Amino acid sequence: MSQENILVSLDKVMVHYENGMPVLKNVSLSLQKKSFYFLTGESGAGKSTFIRLLYMGLKPASGHVEIFGKDVTTLASDEVCEFRQRIGVVFQDYNLLSHLTVLENVALPLKVRGESLKSREYQAKEILDWVGLGNCFNVLPDHLSGGQKQRVAIARAVITRPDIILADEPTGNVDEKIANKLMGLFYGMHKMGTCVVVATHYRQLIDKFNFSELAIENGNISVKNHRNGG
Ligand code: ADP
Repeated sequence: MSQENILVSLDKVMVHYENGMPVLKNVSLSLQKKSFYFLTGESGAGKSTFIRLLYMGLKPASGHVEIFGKDVTTLASDEVCEFRQRIGVVFQDYNLLSHLTVLENVALPLKVRGESLKSREYQAKEILDWVGLGNCFNVLPDHLSGGQKQRVAIARAVITRPDIILADEPTGNVDEKIANKLMGLFYGMHKMGTCVVVATHYRQLIDKFNFSELAIENGNISVKNHRNGG
C-alpha cells in the first residue's frame, strides 16, 4: 500500500472511556483513498467509538492516529475544524440542529465553507430532492420521523463531497427500498473517489455489497478484504 494512498493510519491505538475497560486495544490499520469499508461488530463492540475517534471527537489513550498525513493529537483547534470539513459524518443520533430547518441543516457545511446563500440552497435542495425530502425544506427536525432525520443527516454529510464519509448505521431506520437508494448514494461517492466507512450490524447488507470489512471484536479490528474494494 503506497503512503500517498493512505488517508487514515492507526498505530497501536488504545481507546477507553473514563473508568471503563478499553473499547479499542492496540489497533493498527490504514484506510485507503477511494475505498469502501463496512465497519462491523456486535452492538457495544466499538463501532461508534471508532467513528468518534476518526472524527477527532475523542483522543486515544495511547498510540497514534494520523489523518490526511498528520498526527491528529498535534492539531490546533482551527486545524481540527479544517480537517472536519473534509470528513462527512452521519451520527447515529443524527446531530441535527433543532432550531434550523431541514434546508438550513443540510446547507450548513457549505455555509461554513463560505459559499453563497444561492449556491448552498441550490445544492441542498438538489440533494434533499434526491433523498426523497423535496417537500420538507422548511420543516424543523423535531417534526420529522427517525428515517427522515437519518436522510437529512446523510444529505448533510455528503453535500461537500468530502474525502471521507463515516456513517453510523445509516440505513437502520429506513425501509429496504430507501436503504438501497442510500447505499447507492454512498457507492456513487465511493466511485467518485471518497473513502466511505459504513457501520452496520446487518449481515445481509454486508453480504449483498461484499465490500471490505473492518470487523471489531474484543477491542481488536481485523481487515477482511472482499472482491469489491477496500
Ligand atoms: P457500538 O457502536 O458498536 O454499538 P459503542 O462504540 O457505542 O459500540 O460502545 C462501545 C463500548 O463503549 C460499550 O461498552 C459502551 O457502553 C461504551 N461507551 C460508549 N460510549 C460511551 C461513553 N460516552 N461513556 C462511557 N462508555 C461509553
